[in-house]
Formats: sequence, structure tokens, C-alpha cells
Amino acid sequence: MDKEYEKIKFTQISGRYLPSDKIAELASKNWPSDQWHPSGFSVLGKPVHRIRLGRGAKRILMWSQMHGNESTTTKGLLDFMAWLHSGTEISEKFLNHFSFSFLPILNPDGADRYTRFNANEMDLNRDALNQSQPESVVLRKEYEDFQPDFCFNLHDQRTIYNVGNSRIPATLSFLAPAMDAGRSVPANRLTAMQLIAYMNERLLTILPGGVGRYDDTFNPNCVGDHFQSLGTPTLLFEAGHYPGDYERESSRYYFFKSLIYVLEGIMTGEYASFSQEDYLGIPENAKQFVDILIRRPDLISNNHPRDAIIGICFKEVLADGEIQFVPELSEKEGKEEVYGHQEWDLSQPEQMALLKKRPGIIKLIS
Ligand SMILES: [Zn+2]
Repeated sequence: MDKEYEKIKFTQISGRYLPSDKIAELASKNWPSDQWHPSGFSVLGKPVHRIRLGRGAKRILMWSQMHGNESTTTKGLLDFMAWLHSGTEISEKFLNHFSFSFLPILNPDGADRYTRFNANEMDLNRDALNQSQPESVVLRKEYEDFQPDFCFNLHDQRTIYNVGNSRIPATLSFLAPAMDAGRSVPANRLTAMQLIAYMNERLLTILPGGVGRYDDTFNPNCVGDHFQSLGTPTLLFEAGHYPGDYERESSRYYFFKSLIYVLEGIMTGEYASFSQEDYLGIPENAKQFVDILIRRPDLISNNHPRDAIIGICFKEVLADGEIQFVPELSEKEGKEEVYGHQEWDLSQPEQMALLKKRPGIIKLIS
């Protein structure tokens, strides 16, 4: 991470659990209330806060945590908001060139309960057309009031994603969502593709191999697909796993950098020299990772043949205000192409020792 980032990083938040009150409290202390105010309310009556910054002509709408358990981009977005006020030449340029509307936590009820869904158990990213949920209406209204030139749809992806067929986790993934079943590429979608290709090129220097491209199957009820179909260049950002970093403080940084890069691309127009082919050259994501891969489980339990491979995935559970990573058996068990963020070969004494410290995992595989 760079020194400039360490200086501006919004250090009051970290880790995976970001309940809505905490963000609202911090934001109200750091930004004036005329910029930061509720633009609507959730199912349980929590405010959905919106902040507008900047005075430029290019209008950028970003929303994060529409899935309540996807907090990494919210952290990175708050870092970006702090950076905008850092008083540097480039941050001042951004404020003069852009007007921003940010909805840092679109799904406060889901954020509080650490679930993907809102309090009606609905996935807001499948509600773009139906508009059945109050949070969906808030976003749609902001889209109509603000009339953005670009939309950034900010998410987290699970630790299972790798880039292409490599054993590099997809720390960041991007998508220029389709806008019809034929996946046509009119100007606005091409712009989104070019911006992603431009961003990828710059990210290669700090995150080599760690950027993937998301599957573009069209779903008219997904918010990104919907705004794309309305003609606004729309980009999906997915923050994912970085080796050893389950708190997602590294991917928070890389996401922050990707925001700076993509906006520089818009400001300078440099993205226009990139092509659809450059975008398609970014490897697609695969889902080949488990959190722990165990070889030689026969040394723990004779229920397993010698050549068995067991995959363990962590389920994220909210307990006492913190996220615990609870091991579960993976469905991918036994498939050869599986990679582990940790790999334990139990014939190696030091790796068997790692297992011995985890009675919960011994129980699972016995
Ligand atoms: Zn999501």
C-alpha cells in the first residue's frame, strides 16, 4: 500500500462487519449534514444515506452494500471520499471535473444483520424492474434525480473466485453488464468495457494477475443490467479475496486505487484508446478456490481413501458484533482443479500440526 493511501485511509472502520449506524455516525462527523442526509428509508425504517460531493459536469453515481454482507467497497468508498478532501492537486481536479452521488449503504437492514438480503429477504439486485422494495425505489429515484453519466455498482465477491484457470484469487473483478439477451454492445456498454480495460491495464502494475472479468449473462432485474439498458455506461466492481486477508483490508485498497484509475481515465479520455477486445482479454473468473484444501485425510480418518482431497469453505457468521469464519465442507470436494487458499498435506508433520489446532475441522472430516 502506498504512503498517500495510509495518510487518507478512513481508519475508523475496518474488518468485515459495517453496521449502518456506525457508518452514519462517522459520516455525520466527517461531512456536513447538507451533503449527507437520508434519501429514503429501509424496510425497517433505517435511513439510506446519500452524499453528494464535487462541482463538475461529469456526474458519477455509485452505490455500495446493496448486499448487506458486502462491505469492502463501502470501506474503499469512504477512503475515496476522504481522499477527495485531501487537498491535493489531483483531488481538487476531481472535485472540479466530477459531481458525485454516493449511496454507501443501500441496504442498511442487511448490513446490520450481515446478510445479502434486505429485511424482506429480497435480493435488491434482482429487483430493478419490479421495484418492490423501498431500497430499490431509493436508488431508482436517485438515478432519475441525479441523471448520472456513469454508474458504478459496488459489490464483494466470495473467496471461491480465481482469475482464469490460475491459482491467483480474483482480488478485483469487473463487468460491463449486458443490456439485452443478445449481449449487444452499443456505445454506452462499449464505454464501460473500455473503462474496465483501461483500469485493468493500470492495475496490472500493482495487482498482477489479480483482476478477473465477471460473467455477462443478462438479467433484466439486475440493477447494473437495467441502468445499462437505460443507456448509462454502467460498471460492476467486485472486491474479492487477497492472499491471507480475510478482513479484506488489501482488497479495500486495490478497490480504492481502481476508483482513482477509472476516474482518471474518464477525466483524461485515455480509456477511449482501449477496445472491446482488450476488455475480453481480461480472463474470466472461475470458482475453483476453497479456503482450506486437505490432502491425505486418511491419516485422520479411515473413512477416506488415501487419494481423497477435502475442501473446506468458511461460512461468515455474525456473532457478538464480529464476523466469525466457520468451517464447512465444500461441495467441490474431490475435484482435481480445486485450489486452496491454504493447502494442508497431512503427511507433512507441520501441516498436520496446523490441523491439530482446529478441532472443528477435525470433526468435520472425521
Ligand atoms: Zn453483491
